[in-house]
Amino acid sequence: KEELNMIQGALELRTKTVEDVMTLLSDCFMIHVDATLDFDTMSDIMKSGYTRIPVYEGEKSNIVDLLFVKDLAFVDPKDCTSLKTITKFYSHSLHFVFNDTKLDVMLEEFKKGKSHLAIVQRVNNECKGDPFYEVLGIVTLEDVIEELIKSE
Ligand code: ATP
Ligand code: ATP
Repeated sequence: KEELNMIQGALELRTKTVEDVMTLLSDCFMIHVDATLDFDTMSDIMKSGYTRIPVYEGEKSNIVDLLFVKDLAFVDPKDCTSLKTITKFYSHSLHFVFNDTKLDVMLEEFKKGKSHLAIVQRVNNECKGDPFYEVLGIVTLEDVIEELIKSE
């Protein structure tokens, strides 16, 4: 039965999209670009339990950088280092994908790429004026794998 589930999961990677498995922006733990890495901020990050934390400017949909918890290894909260100092130093690349990207394609991208987190965006042309890219959420390798090995 487990094998059947796995085969079914594998087949579904071809039809399901990243939008089906992503974490909505409203549920994302993020950090503001102007944050100071003081004791409170650093403990919030640790308490969140996440390894990769999107950095936003202004609105949460405006993701401008990525912080990895491991980037904090040499940061002393007493120094009140600005987040910018750290993100500039590590300068992780952001990876954007469209909401209709199929999970098998996403899995290949994750295998090729260095990052295991992608930002999901769509083209919003529902409003008057020019269409624009709208960020919907984030998707990680874990979200795709979970779909693959899900047991019903
Ligand atoms: P890892 O397991 O590689 O240490 P992690 O536990 O931080 O990383 P993942 O395992 O990649 O995160 O993902 C687990 C779930 O958490 C997925 O559903 C993913 O979309 C979600 N997720 C990852 N990062 C965040 C975040 N910063 N805020 C909210 N949800 C997140
Ligand atoms: P990520 O890229 O997801 O943020 P990561 O690069 O630190 O995290 P993983 O993606 O979990 O690590 O693993 C990438 C590869 O590195 C895997 O093949 C894993 O087995 C290997 N790896 C992870 N940690 C170690 C380690 N301490 N020593 C040697 N190999 C490791």
